[in-house]
Amino acid sequence: MIPADHPRYRSLALREHLARCAREGIVALEGLTAHGRGEAFDYLFGEETSPAALRAERIAAALLLSAEHPVISVNGNTAALAAGLLGGLQEASGAAVEVNLFHRTTERMEKITRLLEDHGVRVLGGEPERLLPLSHDRALCLQAGIGSADVVLVPLEDGDRCQALCSMGKTVIAIDLNPLSRTARSADLTIVDELTRAIPAITRFCREIDRDEMQALSKGFDNRELLAEAVRDIIRRLEHALD
Ligand code: ATP
Repeated sequence: MIPADHPRYRSLALREHLARCAREGIVALEGLTAHGRGEAFDYLFGEETSPAALRAERIAAALLLSAEHPVISVNGNTAALAAGLLGGLQEASGAAVEVNLFHRTTERMEKITRLLEDHGVRVLGGEPERLLPLSHDRALCLQAGIGSADVVLVPLEDGDRCQALCSMGKTVIAIDLNPLSRTARSADLTIVDELTRAIPAITRFCREIDRDEMQALSKGFDNRELLAEAVRDIIRRLEHALD
């Protein structure tokens, strides 16, 4: 039991929750190490949302709202961390939700789908096809979902799949605390923020922005500049540590 007044209570409680989800078969063991990499980067950002990330979250809302067929792609870590937040984003953005796993088994697909549905998320179902140009099981997706999506939100993605989605002409929005990852570098828009801070922010902006702002934001952004700003944030914090 972690004492509620522990200075790192939230982080430790999240670890405990993810470990439990791993034991239940929702999170893959590899997902725990991916979370650790995310934690390390979040430490460098002071575990708070930067102004650049907030800008990216507003742009993400605009891209989702202006899409014809937006889809949120959910993996094990995303479901474990944000099942309770995705229903709100789905409702505010009008996006479909599809489960897509690297370590894919029927049992894991069912468990993750159930977890999401228990939190009020409507999850797309159907027969998956090998629609993405990838050799492993992440190629599998639904024609009615990611297959025909024009905008895909991919929280906690791996670089290969992000590049595959981009090569299909889809607009890809990634949430990734590592501004140096292949995912961050190849997505059309990268939100360098922690998932459980990013999802509520995008949801709020989906409810806030009007049509004019939506059009302006979805056309006029520079992802390289957003990533450069994230790297500058890290440098600033590291320089501060030397004072
Ligand atoms: P790439 O293939 O894109 O170069 P990678 O090999 O680091 O990246 P993964 O191992 O799949 O990709 O890691 C997932 C990414 O998700 C990591 O970059 C990590 O920083 C990020 N991440 C992990 N947990 C979170 C979180 N809670 N919020 C935001 N990002 C996270």
